[in-house]
Amino acid sequence: MNTAISDIKIKKIAQSRIHEVDFDNIKFGREFSDHMFTMEYKDGTWQNLEIKPYQNLSFSPAMSALHYGQSIFEGLKAYRKGDDVFMFRAKDNFARMNRSAHRMCIPEIPEELVHHALKQLLTIDANWVPGGEESSLYIRPFLFATDEYVGIKPSATYKFIIFTCPVGSYYTEPLKVKVETEYTRAAQGGVGEAKCAGNYAASLYPAKQAQENGYHQLVWTDGKEHKYIEESGTMNIMFIIGNKLISPNLSGAILPGITRNSVLTLAKDWGYEVEERPVTVDEIIKAAQTGELKEAFGAGTAATIAQIALIGHEGIDYKLPAIETREFSNRVYDFLNNLKRGNETDKWGWIEKI
Ligand SMILES: *Cc1c(COP(=O)(O)O)cnc(C)c1O
Repeated sequence: MNTAISDIKIKKIAQSRIHEVDFDNIKFGREFSDHMFTMEYKDGTWQNLEIKPYQNLSFSPAMSALHYGQSIFEGLKAYRKGDDVFMFRAKDNFARMNRSAHRMCIPEIPEELVHHALKQLLTIDANWVPGGEESSLYIRPFLFATDEYVGIKPSATYKFIIFTCPVGSYYTEPLKVKVETEYTRAAQGGVGEAKCAGNYAASLYPAKQAQENGYHQLVWTDGKEHKYIEESGTMNIMFIIGNKLISPNLSGAILPGITRNSVLTLAKDWGYEVEERPVTVDEIIKAAQTGELKEAFGAGTAATIAQIALIGHEGIDYKLPAIETREFSNRVYDFLNNLKRGNETDKWGWIEKI
């Protein structure tokens, strides 16, 4: 890698757009900060590193990402405490992006360089990081194939971009979820553990059907037998049965969430018994029937913890215990939200001050 950190060209916006944003009423994913970072891959190397005003792109109708989906992304957040801005586990996001890249035949990004570029971007757009209790700056790195070629092969050229969006709180109410037993999010040997664009397109249709039946999200099950629980919506899923934290293990079809890893790490640290293993739909439904299922929740960057209020399975809805009674997930939610804002001791090196 011969691109030096000093090679990032910076062009600042003439007039900030920040005054156009109502920070008390932020629309998720629709407000974009002043600047973005871009770089290009061609001739076998990453080049043209730039921080410049957020702007439209121009590309050929034959751009291969649009046709064949060689496209991956990441999602992470920056948080404010007073004048300080913190990032949470950004290194893990770039490492995961390179695992996704590997699976999709996309060239790897120089992790340290991109990490540095992100810090520079956040320094320039620091006043876009909202200060509200539940607010943060959502960071979206993504990488896609740009060859002007309608033929199926790994592209020789790519674009990598990071833009950011100020966001308020993500979920408003505890989720009603339906166990999906017909459609599949990801199969063994497929691309479920890569954060690639096509996974999300494939999930829209079954999710829409569930929404028409009054559910917010699906609980995805394995593609072969629909017997094992994998994820919920675009989050990892976990349960408390009795006093145990139970999480589906990373089977190859499950996205290795950084929030998931953080929750498991905290649970072990706090002395909970933790089981990472195949989790059957049957055992969860049985535990819901007998009242042993104390908690169920999704884990992901967007919401941190998304409480599950109700699980629908084969036409029957199982109501779970009241949210206030959920000792573990409420504690994790509070702890992580405080940690991410520099209000807890960080003994894992997860927090980075910008
Ligand atoms: C991004 C994502 C997650 C959560 O990952 P985090 O790193 O915790 O944000 C879980 N499942 C899917 C399918 C995802 O795309």
